[in-house]
Order: sequence, then C-alpha cells, then structure tokens
Amino acid sequence: MQTKCTLTKEQIDGAIAFHGHHCPGLTIGLRAGEWCLREMGRAGDEEIVVVTETDMCGDDAIQYLTGCTFGKGNFIFRDTGKVVFTFYRRSDNKRARLALNPEFAADLRVKQESLTADQKEELALLRQERIDRMMNAELNELFNISVPESEMPHPARIHQTIRCDLCGEGVMATRIQKVNGKQVCLDCAAK
Ligand SMILES: [Zn+2]
Ligand SMILES: [Zn+2]
Repeated sequence: MQTKCTLTKEQIDGAIAFHGHHCPGLTIGLRAGEWCLREMGRAGDEEIVVVTETDMCGDDAIQYLTGCTFGKGNFIFRDTGKVVFTFYRRSDNKRARLALNPEFAADLRVKQESLTADQKEELALLRQERIDRMMNAELNELFNISVPESEMPHPARIHQTIRCDLCGEGVMATRIQKVNGKQVCLDCAAK
C-alpha cells in the first residue's frame, strides 16, 4: 500500500523486527525517525542526539532508524510524559522538536485477557486504523514541529566509580549518597 511515509519496506520491517511487533506507538517512532533521516541524516554520518520524552514503543523505531541509541548516550530519556522527540545535529546546530499532534494520540493499550473475541477483533481493527492514519499523514500534521530553545545536551561523560560502603558494589560517583558519614548507593540509602 502506498502511504505518505517515505521509509522503505526494509526499514519498516527492520524496525518491526527490532521492536517485536507492529503497533500504533511504533508507527509514531517510524515517522519521527523518517523525519530525522530526511532532515538530518543518520548518526555515524552525522553527530546527532535525540531526546525522547516518552518511554514507549516508538523509541525503538527511532533508535533503529537513526542509529542514536540509549547505550551510546546519544538517545536520552527526559521523563515529562509527553510524546515529544527533539533532534539535534552538531555540525550546523540544526535542531527540531517534534511533538505528537494530540489528535493522533489515543491509548489503545488495554488488558487483552479481559476482552472477548469480538472485542479483540474490534481492537485490532482500531489499531490498524490508527497505524494507517499515521502512515498517511504529512509529517507536519502528525507532529507540531518547532525549533527548541534548549541546546544540544552534552554527550555522556565518564565518571569515577566508587564502592558502596554497605553492599560493596561499584557506583558512578554522581549517584553516591552520603548517609551517616558513609558513601552508599541509592539502593542502600533507601534501606
Ligand atoms: Zn509496541
Ligand atoms: Zn550499596
């Protein structure tokens, strides 16, 4: 089926395989990743940093497509609960904030076990409808695209490791807590 999405079938199938299933959330990430490839390129060829404000399915598509990953430190989670992705490119300081148009937002995650066969079928149809709608939208109607005020975040820094005085595990220095004169990890501090 011809859609507004300019990703290849291989790119889409690859993202679905990486994520484990096809779903509306992944589709949001496919389209955001498509924007990045089109407007900024791919990490590796370019220094790109992505800040995501949601920890959902779509993040997998963005990591898969752009090459920005959590592990490399160029895919950063900022927990605001918004479906917003901000892209930064080092070479020319280009940046853009893609906020999902609320018209496309709808939470279709429900407990499958509590549904009848008919309801499951209805839900599957609704999900497919939502996927099709997003694949057929122009990127600038699916997302409100603006220039963010924020600067490109600093790349991950390497910190010294300190051993927790209580459990003995190694902890990044910035996460060490001081409790009763001891240097302890977050877990031990909570006890
Ligand atoms: Zn999913
Ligand atoms: Zn500890």
